[in-house]
Amino acid sequence: MEECIFCKIIKGQIPSTKIYEDDKTLAFLDIAPVNIGHALIIPKEHYANIYETPEDTMSDIIKVAKKISLAVKEAVKAEGVNITMNNNHAAGQVIFHSHIHVIPRFSNDGFELWHGKRAYEDDEMKSVAENITSKL
Ligand code: AMP
Ligand code: ZN
Repeated sequence: MEECIFCKIIKGQIPSTKIYEDDKTLAFLDIAPVNIGHALIIPKEHYANIYETPEDTMSDIIKVAKKISLAVKEAVKAEGVNITMNNNHAAGQVIFHSHIHVIPRFSNDGFELWHGKRAYEDDEMKSVAENITSKL
């Protein structure tokens, strides 16, 4: 994966501001943060996104996200923290190397979450749930 910018960060070929590293994961500050302290956690092995990332690797990065959340929250005195993972362009994924965002939040910081809507017709929720469970 020669072109992948996060693989280049892992190899030290481009600079990053690291905050945590172990044998399987790396965490560094996002270069264009929602708020100061916004961090990214990545596996050292390249996987494009959640679909191809093994469960054990997902566990590795979410465990680090937990650690980093506590540290970032304390360090920047955040009032809250969002954990997000974008998968595919439609979901806002720009870098196709799996990563979890740890985003420190403050009241009225201007960062908006999704706006839920009424989407289901009568009884549709049940059939959607059945459809999903049939894929598990
Ligand atoms: P996503 O939209 O989930 O793919 O997020 C990619 C994130 O990577 C964005 O928030 C970018 O600001 C961040 N990013 C891109 N290049 C770098 C870099 N060289 N160092 C740190 N963060 C980066
Ligand atoms: Zn990569």
